[in-house]
Amino acid sequence: RLNIGKITTGSKSLDELLGGGVETKTITEFFGEYGSGKTQICHQLSVNVQLTPEKGGLNGRAVYIDTEGTFRWERIEAMARALGLDPDKVMDNIYYMRAYNSDHQIAIVDELFTFVPKNDVKLVVLDSVTSHFRAEYPGREHLAERQQKLNSHLHQLMRLAEAYNVAVVVTNQVMARPDVFYGDPTTAVGGHVLAHTPGVRVQLRKSKGNKRIARVVDAPHLPEGEVVFVITEEGIRD
Ligand code: ADP
Ligand code: MG
Repeated sequence: RLNIGKITTGSKSLDELLGGGVETKTITEFFGEYGSGKTQICHQLSVNVQLTPEKGGLNGRAVYIDTEGTFRWERIEAMARALGLDPDKVMDNIYYMRAYNSDHQIAIVDELFTFVPKNDVKLVVLDSVTSHFRAEYPGREHLAERQQKLNSHLHQLMRLAEAYNVAVVVTNQVMARPDVFYGDPTTAVGGHVLAHTPGVRVQLRKSKGNKRIARVVDAPHLPEGEVVFVITEEGIRD
């Protein structure tokens, strides 16, 4: 665990839950229901990675791979402003890439093996890692094939994280209610996709108003329990 870098989430309690922040050389999966804060955390990390190490960043740039079209430059602008950063510079340091299907998503990550080391990238976001795979391999009859493709994609991302000392953050939307579980373990509550890949799995849940609850699952090296954070106009906070 040499030279591991950590990126602040903007919330001290969420950082503590993660052992100091989102780490390089590994994959961190944020999974949870619609509206639980996955995309907002991805935006915040893309800004925060650019901070100095004293302020919880890595002086690095971000690659943001968007599969659902939910990325918003206005959110980056607001989050940068809230931290006293120049919004134009912050936006210049985020490489936005739209992935249109799973093959395209895999091809983009292949290209990152040359792109990342050339461009001071310290964070790669994939929001979401699962949506194209779910759409293209629907139902139980395609479950095994889908999981196999996803696993190979996740291993590719793990190699990227380790080879270039970058943080890889992926999101995965799961259903809110266990009573609508159709036998697909990757969409069930707690059905994270990292089951066969090393990494950190963080479950997000909605609470009252702008409050959200985070919990790390299956990580013996991290503290147990849940923390509360909020999503504000300024971004992720305690
Ligand atoms: P997910 O990606 O998990 O579906 P999001 O990260 O998109 O969820 O979170 C959406 C929530 O973030 C919204 O319901 C809202 O509460 C909050 N949010 C989004 N934009 C803003 C904003 N500009 N100011 C305050 N809260 C916001
Ligand atoms: Mg989202």
